[in-house]
Amino acid sequence: MIKTLKNFIDGQWRESKEPVFRDIMNPATGELLARVPAGSAHDVADAAESAQKAWWEWRNTPASQRVQYLFRMKQVLEANSDEIAEICTSECGKTFAESKAEIVRAVENIEVACGIPKLLQSDFSEDIATGIDEFYIRQPIGVGASISPFNFPVMIPFWFMPYAIACGNTYIVKPSDKVPCTMTRIFELFEDLNLPKGILNMVHGGKTTVDAILEHPHIKAISFVGSSPVAKYIYQTGTSHGKRVQALGGAKNPVVIMPDADVDTTVKIIADSAYGCAGQRCLAAAIVLTVGRAGEIFTEKLIEASKTKQIGNGMTEGVEVGPVITKESKERIEKLIEKSVNDGARLLLDGRKITVGGCEGGNFIGPTILGDVDPESEIYATEIFGPVIIINNVDTLEDAIKLTNKGLKGNAASIFTRSGAAARKFRHDVQAGNIGINIGIAAPMSFFPFSGWKESFYGDLHGQSFHAVEFYTQTKVVIERWHDDWTRKF
Ligand code: NAD
Repeated sequence: MIKTLKNFIDGQWRESKEPVFRDIMNPATGELLARVPAGSAHDVADAAESAQKAWWEWRNTPASQRVQYLFRMKQVLEANSDEIAEICTSECGKTFAESKAEIVRAVENIEVACGIPKLLQSDFSEDIATGIDEFYIRQPIGVGASISPFNFPVMIPFWFMPYAIACGNTYIVKPSDKVPCTMTRIFELFEDLNLPKGILNMVHGGKTTVDAILEHPHIKAISFVGSSPVAKYIYQTGTSHGKRVQALGGAKNPVVIMPDADVDTTVKIIADSAYGCAGQRCLAAAIVLTVGRAGEIFTEKLIEASKTKQIGNGMTEGVEVGPVITKESKERIEKLIEKSVNDGARLLLDGRKITVGGCEGGNFIGPTILGDVDPESEIYATEIFGPVIIINNVDTLEDAIKLTNKGLKGNAASIFTRSGAAARKFRHDVQAGNIGINIGIAAPMSFFPFSGWKESFYGDLHGQSFHAVEFYTQTKVVIERWHDDWTRKF
């Protein structure tokens, strides 16, 4: 029987109050996996009410006790990582190894959040004037919520949620309505944590649910990750309702190759970076800019490396590139490729006609490479979100940096070179939030903020680490004076 997913509200599994559903299919096989509620403002209101009720007691629970639940959370994820990864691969399409890797990333964020007793500490200044001291306290802000994209069903809520609850907030997780099964299973497993009811809630759905989150007066802080137009909408609407919002958007990440870069490692890293998760990553290498002679040295090698990638069902041993998320997504990517060729791009490798035996219902596209793409064309500016590389040659590093900075997104950029001076110039001049030097598009560890600039980020504080702690707390400044003569009276 196909499972109909429920929300987790106030410590219980509850059916959505709106009986409208969306089918969840396995993108590798086309098999129907589950039905997810389309969402309802009533569900959000119930979750917000429960979270608000639970908040005061939770905020007054010592941080050292709150993190005990996080220690157990880490253990539950680790102990069940094979099962969680299998569900993740079945609904999202990425390989089993990629699913396991994102669980590790989630766990690392829990580990950092376990340091909250220390992370919450503040500064204290004695004698700002004679006998007067000043300090600040970080206090939780109330109910928080995360809204996540389809491409990392496990990891992304953990960029925010462990920090939020460790700081003393209560929380609502809204998984992507394209991949809701993984987080549902995680919440089932989290019942073993014995968290007090209302601390952690999950509400399914799409735009209706999101809009209700943006408007509900109990919800004070929202962490969003998704495409740039939606990120902008979330930021504008959430802040207009007086909420704190951090909204991480889409990407179009350039990778610059200098002629002196190491050939084999550069080619391997870029191919992994471009085709991992079938290119459906905000940190995918999307545009390769070869500088000068690097064009002759690297283009053919990259084509050869791309041809070796194993495409198929992410559960099959040895597969490196899984399917894209939906049939619509596959069609959209194929149309973008066709249009770019019509606009004059050279099709150096075409992955559109790929078939995978036993997976005829799957949404597969093989590695595709487009050369000499007009930087003014649609495909150059658009986030393709598929296993497609644009490769263009430029004359100088300055040209590469200029083209990089012309892009509207600023999530990440990398350079491959043996020259410290070139790397330093790139790091210094490029307008992007995450920089890689001889590293594929670099994912910051959980003890660093996950940055992002320009249309890739709306807000001030990012996810992960001390930024997440600052986002989920507000600062109370205290100035105090205790008169000496009061002491003498005792
Ligand atoms: P999406 O923007 O379509 O959806 C993200 C979330 O917003 C989902 O939970 C969805 O239910 C909700 N949503 C969708 N349309 C909405 C609307 N009109 N109004 C309100 N809510 C809406 O993104 P996606 O396709 O699920 O994910 C892929 C995108 O996420 C890519 O652009 C990718 O670059 C981006 N992403 C960014 C990062 C980052 O760190 N910057 C990380 C992962 C993914």
